[in-house]
Amino acid sequence: MAGRISGRTSLRSSRPISSGFLAWDPGWTDSFEDRVRRTEGHWLWTGYIDRKDGYGRFKPHHNMRAELAHRVAYVRWIGPIPDDHVIDHRGHPFTLRRCVRPECLEAITHEENIRRGNSPAGRNARLTHCPKCGNEYNELNTVFRSSGERRCRICRQAAKRAARTASAPGSRSSPHQATDA
Ligand SMILES: [Zn+2]
Ligand SMILES: [Zn+2]
Repeated sequence: MAGRISGRTSLRSSRPISSGFLAWDPGWTDSFEDRVRRTEGHWLWTGYIDRKDGYGRFKPHHNMRAELAHRVAYVRWIGPIPDDHVIDHRGHPFTLRRCVRPECLEAITHEENIRRGNSPAGRNARLTHCPKCGNEYNELNTVFRSSGERRCRICRQAAKRAARTASAPGSRSSPHQATDA
């Protein structure tokens, strides 16, 4: 069937690895930098972004594996990634994991990465489903708090509705109003 975007499908299915050897290829310069929008604070990846993990993906060539855009940025502008290190964003919320600005990136050990991943923000970032109602965090139902943590729109709207109902004088909509807080 025509109309299938095979490049996109394979980009989604090939899981990039967060560690391992990666070398910058000068032949990637144009296609890589065309996808970087430099703002005053951060350099935003405008290419493919995986909504589950928030990281940008760079696929240098259609038959090559997708790489994490911020790892490519590191080897592009900083240098080789030290052995047994992963590239982390310096205190960036989930929404800014697409940032590829070299000043925002640092190479840390796996150990440090695990320590950071066990923080409350790290745990929230790993969730794929709302812990309250079980809905998947997707484009439509995910809202971001200023910290970058994700909240489910369905739960948030339910909470707002409950608050409105509870505060409306003379409301007879439900005898169970505001008991689910
Ligand atoms: Zn940044
Ligand atoms: Zn929910």
